[in-house]
Amino acid sequence: MSAFLSSPKIVIVGSGPAGCYAAQFLRKQWPDGELTIVDSQLAPYGLVRNGIAPDHQGTKAVTRQFDRLFERQNVHFRGGVEIGRDVPYAFLADNFDVVVLATGVEADRTLPIPTDPRADVRGAGSLMRALNGDPTVNDTLSPIGSRAIIVGTGNVAIDVARMLTAPMSHFRGSDVDDTTLQQLRAVAVERVDIVGRSSLAQAKFDIAMVKELSRLDGVNVTTHARPSESNNEIVTLLQEGGTAGNVQVVFHFNTSPDSVEFRDGTTILNVTDPQGRHAFEVDSIITAIGFEASTTRPDQTEIINRPNVFLTGWRRRGAVGALAANRRCAQEMSAEIGAAIQQGVIQVHADGLAALDAETTPVRPIDFPGWRRIDTHELSNATADRTRTKVTRLDELRRIGTSTATDTTNSQHAAPSTACDSDDTQRTAL
Ligand SMILES: Cc1cc2nc3c(=O)[nH]c(=O)nc-3n(C[C@H](O)[C@H](O)[C@H](O)COP(=O)(O)OP(=O)(O)OC[C@H]3O[C@@H](n4cnc5c(N)ncnc54)[C@H](O)[C@@H]3O)c2cc1C
Repeated sequence: MSAFLSSPKIVIVGSGPAGCYAAQFLRKQWPDGELTIVDSQLAPYGLVRNGIAPDHQGTKAVTRQFDRLFERQNVHFRGGVEIGRDVPYAFLADNFDVVVLATGVEADRTLPIPTDPRADVRGAGSLMRALNGDPTVNDTLSPIGSRAIIVGTGNVAIDVARMLTAPMSHFRGSDVDDTTLQQLRAVAVERVDIVGRSSLAQAKFDIAMVKELSRLDGVNVTTHARPSESNNEIVTLLQEGGTAGNVQVVFHFNTSPDSVEFRDGTTILNVTDPQGRHAFEVDSIITAIGFEASTTRPDQTEIINRPNVFLTGWRRRGAVGALAANRRCAQEMSAEIGAAIQQGVIQVHADGLAALDAETTPVRPIDFPGWRRIDTHELSNATADRTRTKVTRLDELRRIGTSTATDTTNSQHAAPSTACDSDDTQRTAL
């Protein structure tokens, strides 16, 4: 697309894949436009850093193309600024020509069934954040126990099953947060059941994910699905049982959770399947049934209907779709912004980043060189067999990010090890 005469000043809220893909398309459209990405986290890249499984380094490597935005394409990063708390949303809409909301959808959806509050029920998203060293969730975690049950049959459910059952050697070359991994697995996990309401044929996971799980050493993956239910590749794979091992992973389809009880120190998931009612007595339940808007994030309604405000990624479509879907969404939205400016719906005259920087001085945002200092620190402090060891304390991240002693902007980066890269490129959904 040819460049428009007026170059707008654009702020993107959220540096996850949706925000970064949006910046790529907007930069193509306006090579000279001012582009700024703001994030409440001190480090960029949203769920690529804090959600995607730490043993899927191949997928996480998308950050290398996002890095180029800041290194070569004059996109500005401001980390550690929560819009709606540190700066009102209306301030952005007043001081930038265009505001893009790429803020994602981050809270684990809770089970819509009666649940005893004493039962051990955890959200898969929060668990994956902890395993990724996200400083906003990294509290001390109790062990998952020898028997766990995962509710949900999407790819995130399989990520969790793999993180809980894989032999420790599997994590070679990952950037898993070892403290969290050891806390969760302090008691040896013996069995993980995975239950979902859908039939096997309708389950949302990708076959590559099930294959990866079934190939783990010492993990025996099976299903109670009947041969007649489906003859697809997954049922054959699951009925063959994977590698022989001490850890059992058992899939249950057509199984609806009814209630969660807590009796004599045991968490119980009551379910109904085609054979009747059953109870799973477990140590913990992990819910992997999707995501919803967080109630702790500031409200965006004050600006949502303004003509210069656009949505992309999970914030636009809800929590569905993998990386590629966010790229398509960003392309579409970028064309909408182009059309709005061409048609004169949006006037180009704002102060942009200069106004934001003046407003946010007290919160000391992290710029891209600041993130590079954190990045270099994490890479060079990687413990044995790890690609990086993340800094999990906010004060420490801020100290490194704002230090001026060593500017590592142009330092060479160790290429991430691909020792445990899996063939997860076919992942299409959650
Ligand atoms: C556990 C898990 C595993 C996944 N694994 C894969 C995978 O293997 N492959 C794959 O292709 N996809 C995977 N996905 C899906 C992928 O992560 C999403 O498609 C993608 O991250 C959505 O991008 P987004 O930018 O919309 O949201 P996010 O990545 O969530 O980014 C939103 C950003 O906005 C910031 N933000 C929110 N509110 C504010 C505010 N008020 N002020 C400033 N900043 C704010 C957040 O801090 C965050 O950085 C996975 C998802 C999850 C949850």
